Amino acid sequence: MSVMRKFYYGILLGGALSACRPPTPNTSPIQLLAGNDQPLSATTPGSWRKVHPEKEQTLQQFRAASVLGDTSRRTIQLLLVGPPDPKADTLLALIAEHLQLYFQLPVKLLPPDSTIPPAGFTRTGASGQIQWRADWLLDKVLHPLSAPGVAATAGVTSIDLYPSDSWNFVMGLASYHRQVSISSWYRLQPPGVHKSISPQLLTRLLKTITHETGHMLGLAHCQHAACSMNGSNSVSEADRQPLRLCSQCLQKLSSLHAADLVKRNSRLMQWYRHHRVPNLAQELTADSISLSSYAHIFSYIGR
Ligand SMILES: [Zn+2]
Ligand SMILES: [Zn+2]
Repeated sequence: MSVMRKFYYGILLGGALSACRPPTPNTSPIQLLAGNDQPLSATTPGSWRKVHPEKEQTLQQFRAASVLGDTSRRTIQLLLVGPPDPKADTLLALIAEHLQLYFQLPVKLLPPDSTIPPAGFTRTGASGQIQWRADWLLDKVLHPLSAPGVAATAGVTSIDLYPSDSWNFVMGLASYHRQVSISSWYRLQPPGVHKSISPQLLTRLLKTITHETGHMLGLAHCQHAACSMNGSNSVSEADRQPLRLCSQCLQKLSSLHAADLVKRNSRLMQWYRHHRVPNLAQELTADSISLSSYAHIFSYIGR
């Protein structure tokens, strides 16, 4: 039986430029980035780590569990689930570009799927909104889309979701074992803004999808530092957590899928600035400084 993880994401706007020690030839990029990790926020009543205490996932546990251990599986699939929405094409194109840069994996957009869950898997929420069972969508809509070469399949929907009758809602749900996820932007829109894609909606949705994709690729909730893979129990808790992956989570991914971290960081910063979410670029400023000194050392050694 697959284990479902209640999703959540996070942000803490980038802290001070932490100690950027001059790199030595033996210093790896990950070691440099570790100096920029920001501490976990303190737990408060109702916060994710207070309500759901979890053990730290080791590098060995990640490597044993991650789909990236199979080098033939590298593609992330992305599609709209549920009714058409005027924002969907733009949102999905942005998400696809971002996932490609963030995980350094190819992303394939699939045609929308407008399947409606049957009775028993839909209900009316507290505000009169339609809600769909997230696990039904994972099982019946997303899992059947898996194909050779696919590492993960991410669904995105405008419909509010719930994972079981005892939960009020869930913003996203992922399965570690079947590499599928569903995320909703229903609760991520600022009040009164529904026709345009605001920076706040884009930021929140990027955090949600990125967090869920991290789960699909085998990352558990991060216990090491402020990180995209921190669990979160509410939109406001997620708003305070970063989109930046901490050095330990990045090391896990890099151990199975090598990436040029200098280029990754630079392109992500450019992308955030171009799409008017400079707060996300700011999170990577210290990393940019650290990695530029790494790139300099290696260009010097290479002469
Ligand atoms: Zn999660
Ligand atoms: Zn982390």
